[in-house]
Amino acid sequence: MTAAPKVVLATRNAHKVPEIRRILESAGAAVDLVAVSEFPEVQDVAETGLTFAENALLKARSVAEATGLPALADDSGLAVEALGGMPGVFSARWAGRHGDDGANLRLVLAQLESVPDAHRQAAFICVAALALPDGTSATEEGRVDGAVIRAPRGENGFGYDPIFVADGSTRTTAELAPAEKDAISHRGRAFRAIAHHLAALA
Ligand code: IMP
Repeated sequence: MTAAPKVVLATRNAHKVPEIRRILESAGAAVDLVAVSEFPEVQDVAETGLTFAENALLKARSVAEATGLPALADDSGLAVEALGGMPGVFSARWAGRHGDDGANLRLVLAQLESVPDAHRQAAFICVAALALPDGTSATEEGRVDGAVIRAPRGENGFGYDPIFVADGSTRTTAELAPAEKDAISHRGRAFRAIAHHLAALA
């Protein structure tokens, strides 16, 4: 039996790593997923793109180049209709400081305070990117449509999960069990689709 090919997971977001591992494992992706933190020489790349796909590719390509191994990355965020699709690619730093989930969520709630329930539609969007050391790459997009509620609920997940209710659900994505979130989530959809590209590496 040949060993599963090594693939570097190019994200330092501590919340995303277990989600992506879980999703790929349940999709049956036969890869040896290694965290980018195991390569201390790899520098962070600035997320300068204006689309999820550009940023996901930037991250995956720089890690594939630096390690000489296939690399997987994602870029994701919350797109709120009443905010013209924002915070979008700025979701992680919407309130100014990168990764301040509480401040980001409070700012979105404040911005939507006067927006009636009928106009609070939003979507979580994720683009997963696979880059190979030969310079080729692939991307897949996943999304989950829903709405932004008025007060946070739930302890699971991260980011904007406590204020997002997917269409057809009454619970926020922070009130879903991890496997329930994976089944409907933007990241679940994008990484199950990219798992088909990983099969070609075996
Ligand atoms: P990224 O690490 O540049 O892709 O930024 C993603 C940001 O979007 C996170 O910091 C969260 O604010 C938000 N986000 C992305 N996916 C999710 C999710 O599954 N739940 C809640 N917030 C998310």
